[in-house]
Amino acid sequence: MALDRATTLRADPTWVTRRLGDPDSRVVLVSRDGVLVGEGAGPELIRRSIGDLLAAGAVITEPVLLGLEQGRALFAVDLDALARASRAALTRGASVVTLRAAGALLPRSEGGLAAYLGSLLSWHRAHRFCPNCGTATTVAEAGYSRRCPSCGAVHFPRTDPVVIMLVATGTHVLLGRHANWPPLRYSVLAGYVSPGETLEEAVAREVREESGVDVYDSRYVASQPWPFPSSLMLGFEARSDGGEPTARDGELEDVRWFTVEDARAAVHGHSAELELPPRVAIARLLIERWIAGRPA
Ligand SMILES: [Zn+2]
Repeated sequence: MALDRATTLRADPTWVTRRLGDPDSRVVLVSRDGVLVGEGAGPELIRRSIGDLLAAGAVITEPVLLGLEQGRALFAVDLDALARASRAALTRGASVVTLRAAGALLPRSEGGLAAYLGSLLSWHRAHRFCPNCGTATTVAEAGYSRRCPSCGAVHFPRTDPVVIMLVATGTHVLLGRHANWPPLRYSVLAGYVSPGETLEEAVAREVREESGVDVYDSRYVASQPWPFPSSLMLGFEARSDGGEPTARDGELEDVRWFTVEDARAAVHGHSAELELPPRVAIARLLIERWIAGRPA
C-alpha cells in the first residue's frame, strides 16, 4: 500500500487541525456496507476533497487520518455518521462496494487501502465506550487510538491473529471445504490463535481439530490483512506424514488429500473436481507456491 501512515506527525494536534483545513487534503468514505468506489474504468476508492465535504454540509468532528498520500493528508469518513443529504451528495456517481467485492475488483494497493479503512472504521464504531468504565471515549492520535476521559485508559485498534497453513506430504496437499462454499471449492485450513498459544502450536492444534492429521516443521511464509473485521492471516507451510483425514469438529464439510496434479490442474482452470480460492487470497498464494516447488 503506497501510503505513509504519518505515525509521528499524527501525534501533533495542531498539524492535524491544519490538514483538516487544507484544500489539498482528501477523504475516502466507508459505511457498514462497504467502501465507496468510483464508477467507470480503472476502479479505485473515490477521493473527495475537504472542499467537497464542506459543500455537502459534512463536518469531521473526530478526525481519523489514514496517512499521507503523495504528501497530501487522507482522512477516513464514516458515511453512516453523516446526515442523509450530505451522504447523498458525497456518494453521487459512485457506489458502495462490500470489502469482499472490493478485494477482487480493485488493484492491489487500493485493495490494501480498503482493508485498512474498513478495519479501522469498524473498530472506531465498536469502541465508542470505554470497556473499563463505560464512559464515552474520544479519538486520539488522529484515529490511531481512543482515550477514556474518565479513567484515562487508552484503547488501540486490535488485530486478531489467524494461522492459515498449507499442510503437505511430499506428493499430496490437505484441503478442506465449508458447506456454504461454491461447489468443488477447497482451500487450506485456518483458525484463530488462542490466548497463550504460539503460532506453531496454533497450526498443529487447528489441523488436528479440523482433520485429525498431525503436522510438524511448520514454517512462516507470508501474511495478509483480512478485514472481516480485523484479522491478520499468518501463512504457514507445515509437513505431514499423511494419514486419513476426517472432518471432525463440525466446521468443515469435507477434508481430503489432493495430488500435485489435481492442484496444478485447478490452478490452470482445467479441473472438473477441484476449484481453488480466488487469487486475492493468501490461501491461493500458499497453494501456488507449494505447486511451484514440486517437480512438473
Ligand atoms: Zn474508562
